[in-house]
Amino acid sequence: MAEVIKYDNLRECFLLFLNKPDMTDEECRTHYWVGHNGTRPYRIRIDKWLASNPKVWGWCEHKARTIHIYVSPEADIFDVITMMAHELGHMQRPRYPIDSDEEKKAANYEKVTKTAIDIAKEMMGL
Ligand SMILES: [Zn+2]
Repeated sequence: MAEVIKYDNLRECFLLFLNKPDMTDEECRTHYWVGHNGTRPYRIRIDKWLASNPKVWGWCEHKARTIHIYVSPEADIFDVITMMAHELGHMQRPRYPIDSDEEKKAANYEKVTKTAIDIAKEMMGL
C-alpha cells in the first residue's frame, strides 16, 4: 500500500526533499533535487519544475513504497488521477534499468487512465 503525502505548494514539496528549509526562491533556481532511480542517483533542476508550474507533480520512492504528490489548487480530479496512474506505473515491476524505458512504462499507465477517463466523461456527458 502506497503512502500519499500532500504538500501545500511545489516549493515546499522540493524543500522537504532537499531538507534545506531556509532556502530562498533564488537559491531554488540554482539547486538540484536529487532522486534515486533504484540503481543510481539522478538530478532534477528545481527551477525547471517551478517554471513549468505544473498543476500536479508526483514522485515515487521505490524502496519505501511511497508516492509523494503535489496538487495545486488549479488541478482537477482528473489531473490527480492521471498523475497517480503514472506514479503507480513506476511502482510496478520490473523496474527498467534505462530511465527512458522506465518513463515509457509509467506513461503507458497514464495513457490508459486518460483514455478510461475520456470514455467515462463521454458516457456521462461531461
Ligand atoms: Zn515518471
